[in-house]
Amino acid sequence: MGFRTKQVHAGVEPDPTTGAILTPIHQTTTFVQPSVDDYMTKGFTYSRSGNPTVSALEAKLAILEGGVSAACFSTGMAATNSIFMALLSAGDHAVISQVAYGGTYRLASKIYTKFGVDFSFVDTSDPANVADAITDRTRLIFTETPANPTLVYTDIAAVSAIARGAGIPHAVDNTFLTPYYQRPLELDADLVMHSTTKYFDGHNATVGGAVVFANEQLDEEIRFVQNSTGSIMSPQVAWLTLQGSKTLSERMDRQSANAMAVAEFLEAHPKVTTVSYPGLASFPQHDLAAKQATGFGAMAWFEVKGGVAAGKRLMDTVELWTLAENLGSVESLITHPVTMTHAAVEPAERARIGITDGLVRISVGLEDTEDLIDDLAKALDTL
Ligand code: PLP
Repeated sequence: MGFRTKQVHAGVEPDPTTGAILTPIHQTTTFVQPSVDDYMTKGFTYSRSGNPTVSALEAKLAILEGGVSAACFSTGMAATNSIFMALLSAGDHAVISQVAYGGTYRLASKIYTKFGVDFSFVDTSDPANVADAITDRTRLIFTETPANPTLVYTDIAAVSAIARGAGIPHAVDNTFLTPYYQRPLELDADLVMHSTTKYFDGHNATVGGAVVFANEQLDEEIRFVQNSTGSIMSPQVAWLTLQGSKTLSERMDRQSANAMAVAEFLEAHPKVTTVSYPGLASFPQHDLAAKQATGFGAMAWFEVKGGVAAGKRLMDTVELWTLAENLGSVESLITHPVTMTHAAVEPAERARIGITDGLVRISVGLEDTEDLIDDLAKALDTL
């Protein structure tokens, strides 16, 4: 079946008791067992270890990404943490995309280093850099593509081949493109990580995360950490995310078309110095973006003449665009990564990896294209 059919129906069955078309919110701690000998015959015991509403979302995500199974978490960071905790021990080493969400960098550099794990943050846009960074202690390769906020792409198939050759699992943060546009497991990655907070929810209603597994061993290892540490998704959040997921493709196509139009407008504007959007021919990795994914997504960034001061004025002047963290929602959002999403990354590291002080990140929403452009045009006129 096609992606649209799967996004609506996968994982969801009418409720066997009532016929309710939507998976009920199973707001319960525990599940009554028929007898000591029949323990777990209905599949659930205690909601930290599994909950039917959460399981429905997990089944949907696994099918959409083409994995064997999936686990949902309280946040995207909890999902990433479970990958690190399951696969890395004291003395181990991991290779991570040098540009990744600021929280991923913070988790690795500020927390896991305390436990004797070390990291190489490499420019994964060149797979050779990944091969060069691998040591005999490397136990994980974690890439984010396209990366937040610079939109640098990593060739998933090339890095997966290197990982496979070295016997190291390759995890891909697929938050920006979602399985509608990009399916890392089909390109031989071993794990896909998501902040479901973004496009799966799509409505700025929840925070959540997920990991999709290519094989049962990874499922077992990561679920063991999840159950031991208790970093689960609540049934309420799973229910909202289930509903959001059913319109993922429609939102992504419309938002991406809006993003293309906005990027073209910005590229032609005299007050804009740089625009980065993977769908533009000027995007340095446009060919890889077109080869690896079926869409370019709805994230872009730009810089304006007048540097940081002008960029800040623009962000404070726009009216329809909302100044806020988060991305992937139906509302168009404008963000200043240096003070917001990537404040946890040290200034020298930000400069090294291309997160400039004047970079304005946009997450393009579902509003009318003309309204989004008019609002930006008015704000640019004040600079
Ligand atoms: N990965 C990416 C690419 C993100 O943009 C984010 C959040 O912005 C995360 C992971 C972390 O997700 P969460 O905020 O749900 O913990």
